Amino acid sequence: MELMWRTSHMSGSNAHYVEELYEQYLSDPQSVPDEWRQYFDSLPGYDGGPSRDVPLAPIRDQFYHLARDRRSLAPVASGTAENEETNRKQVRVLQLINAYRFRGHQKANIDPLGLRIAETVPDLELSFHQLSDADMDTEFQTGSLFIGKDSAPLKEIIQALEQTYCRSIGCEFMHIVNTEEKRWLEQRFESVRSRPDYSAEVRKHVLERLTAAEGLENYLASRYPGTKRFGLEGGESFIPMVDELIQRSGNYGVREVVIGMAHRGRLNLLVNILGKSPSELIDEFDGKKMIEHGSGDVKYHQGFSSNVMTPGGEVHLALAFNPSHLEIVMPVVEGSVRARQDRRDDSEGDQVLPLVVHGDAAVAGQGVVMETFQMSQLRGYKTGGTVHIVINNQVGFTTSRQDDARSTEYCTDIAKMVQSPIFHVNGDDPDAVLHATQVAIDYRQQFKKDVVIDLICYRRRGHNEADEPSGTQPLMYQKIKSHDSSRTIYARRLVEEGVLDEDEVKGLIDGYREDLDNGNHVANALVQEPNSNLFVDWTPYLGHRWTGESDTSFDLKRMQELATKMCDIPDDVDTQRQVAKVYEDRRKMVAGSLGINWGFAETLAYATLIDQGHPVRLTGQDTGRGTFSHRHAVVHNQKDGSIWTPLCHLKPNQPDFTIYDSFLSEEGAMAFEYGYATTTPNALIAWEAQFGDFANGAQVVIDQFISSGETKWGRLCGLTLLLPHGYEGQGPEHSSARLERFLQLCAEENMQVCVPTTPAQIFHLLRRQVIRGLRKPLIILSPKSLLRHKDATSSLEDLSDGRFQMVIPDQGKLEAEQVKRVIFCSGKVYYDLASWRAENERSDTAIIRIEQLYPFPEESLLAAIESYTNLERVVWCQEEPKNQGAWYQSQHHMRKVADQVNPGLGGELGFAGRAESAAPAAGYMAVHSEQQRSLVDKAFNG
Ligand code: AMP
Repeated sequence: MELMWRTSHMSGSNAHYVEELYEQYLSDPQSVPDEWRQYFDSLPGYDGGPSRDVPLAPIRDQFYHLARDRRSLAPVASGTAENEETNRKQVRVLQLINAYRFRGHQKANIDPLGLRIAETVPDLELSFHQLSDADMDTEFQTGSLFIGKDSAPLKEIIQALEQTYCRSIGCEFMHIVNTEEKRWLEQRFESVRSRPDYSAEVRKHVLERLTAAEGLENYLASRYPGTKRFGLEGGESFIPMVDELIQRSGNYGVREVVIGMAHRGRLNLLVNILGKSPSELIDEFDGKKMIEHGSGDVKYHQGFSSNVMTPGGEVHLALAFNPSHLEIVMPVVEGSVRARQDRRDDSEGDQVLPLVVHGDAAVAGQGVVMETFQMSQLRGYKTGGTVHIVINNQVGFTTSRQDDARSTEYCTDIAKMVQSPIFHVNGDDPDAVLHATQVAIDYRQQFKKDVVIDLICYRRRGHNEADEPSGTQPLMYQKIKSHDSSRTIYARRLVEEGVLDEDEVKGLIDGYREDLDNGNHVANALVQEPNSNLFVDWTPYLGHRWTGESDTSFDLKRMQELATKMCDIPDDVDTQRQVAKVYEDRRKMVAGSLGINWGFAETLAYATLIDQGHPVRLTGQDTGRGTFSHRHAVVHNQKDGSIWTPLCHLKPNQPDFTIYDSFLSEEGAMAFEYGYATTTPNALIAWEAQFGDFANGAQVVIDQFISSGETKWGRLCGLTLLLPHGYEGQGPEHSSARLERFLQLCAEENMQVCVPTTPAQIFHLLRRQVIRGLRKPLIILSPKSLLRHKDATSSLEDLSDGRFQMVIPDQGKLEAEQVKRVIFCSGKVYYDLASWRAENERSDTAIIRIEQLYPFPEESLLAAIESYTNLERVVWCQEEPKNQGAWYQSQHHMRKVADQVNPGLGGELGFAGRAESAAPAAGYMAVHSEQQRSLVDKAFNG
């Protein structure tokens, strides 16, 4: 082949020869010499045999352009009336060709059950184009149609179009505006009429994988009848599809594939693709406990990792753990993939592939799908294109497709918003499934965009095996009852075509069953001794016990150097007036003439972490500047709009500092960062809400992943959430980050909830999150007005020497014996309390800040108050209404500590806060101010 290629280089007369040969191959692959056919087959643009050569897409494109140009030069008849009529018809024929490309999918045979109500598509009728049967034998130019001929009789053109667009694959791609992509797709389908000639070897392999898919379900059905497993029966083609995706992408140089999928078919994928041991699965069916710690999860939520071998080398597979909230795993997978790509410096997404599997009802119904598509080409989120598979069983639990499940014909229409091509493919035609799969992965690798395969199938046993589907879908299930399985249909076809005989078919079934009986692995590409360099080593982060203490100090001199660097903006960056003032102030902070404020302390935390080798990734709406204009980590040049990010210029070869203003999403955006953080243990990954309350748009991420992922799945996560919180009269939607919800989710030291009140505290808190080995989510209720509070400043020494204080003891100069009252509080209300005390000269009241509400620091709190031996009253003061904030979740800890200092109090704890309220905050400034005054007063006097 090497020799052949050298002699057939695309120049001079060789080019013409190859072009001719290639055209011949396009119209009839059998008509070219064997050697050439094999070569053309091996081009990734054409669906060849199992031995796929190195991708040579550019060469294929060159062929394609040559072929197209030659056609465009073909003469058009002119002159006579007859010729003009011919020309008019020629135009109509070209329109007809385009009509098939636009709407052929509506006529395609994509539903294995034949239940799809196929509308008549007028554009595909001859009469619509003012053509008739009388024109069938007339020869027309084929224009851009890829059938390997410049002209052909109309009947032949129509036959090619029908075969390409109206058989088992319904292609939707004409919504794409990029001509190159469209032409590429036309070529891929038209040149083989959507049905490449696969070799017997390839087809036997497909049958073997189908047999595995069916065999596993049959095995489980007979062993555990009626037990829920969300079986794949009806959609078995999914297994050969994923097998091909992995093998082909491995051949492209992909080294990791991250898969997200819901329940249906998950066990099948685990065993037949990822190589989970069948005996382990059986143990789970038998109810044996599989994990040592935590609550565990049902078997069809479990993730898995393994390595498989492909023609291009070993590939690491990671199936993400997922909750029953179906589509939410999609952005988690994207985050995980992006993290792996960043780790590999794979900015194009060539080495890590996201594969997301949807259900038809969920993909059309759930909003996070839209959010994730929206992020697919954004700077901070793109992953070089995702391959989406819809296991489309044409019903959502008991909700029928028509009328109730969606408003448009296809469940995949959402993908058109990012101009993804969509291939609807009949699950009972595995050859077509294979072709659609190959085009999908090739498209992804070529154009780095999302692509969708809509595998149209059915669920033979209803929503799950404990369910009776005929009660709600009677007609569908009558049909299914008498419908042969995809494997049966395919095996029959292969026997009829002489590819193999009945005995071989039976041999495949028996062989698979035998493997299962013997507990053998049945994923035939599984690597038994995986190369662990392909994934992150988490062992340094495992097994750490919770401790609040951590040495987060940092060398003062180096910090000064870093701080100076961070204020260094090149002369040619024309800085906007207010931003220039921020940096001017920061320079004064470095010099020591101004106290360090929140924004500078926070950015210094990032700088010191980077200096110590930890990457930092920060995202959120308006995060570069900060919603409240405190950060200004990105400086925008007023002259040309370019940006300067000081944290990216600290030292040569420093770890990445990435900061992105996110798109306006909470659910998708936070889930993405969860995925990123669970894949990147050595970095600080933080997501910032615009206002803290908006995080409730991502409640599912908080409930299902952040708070419970470790106990359910053993997956550690060091994600940090920055949630602006504070009662400042801004109304019900901009005051509360819903502290009470986070505290309610806290148990088993699952996460940290902190409310820092000084710049030094945020500095040490952010550093603590990365410097120590423990990886736990960190929820920070971050400030708003406190960002500029004159008393909320720290010194460089506070930063360099200190550490995070879970409790800040009283800062006044009180005589301990004189203290009768202690006020506990968290957050900015401390400053209101301190100023009230100063104004009223109260020396009998201590104010203690609890800066970490969970895990609750009882010991530190005790240390802060144990010298107050004459204590008479303990009060908790909060800005939030009584039914919100920390009151109900944290009071038992405070009572317990107070009781240790003075058991005579009987554990009594006073409450000074707003009255119970349905809304988080008052909408009127006057009401807010009166409430605030009253709750501070009550803390001292109530
Ligand atoms: P993955 O690349 O996601 O398949 O992960 C490879 C291996 O790393 C897994 O099998 C786990 O043992 C481990 N691992 C991955 N992510 C985590 C995590 N977030 N917490 C703990 N261990 C992990």
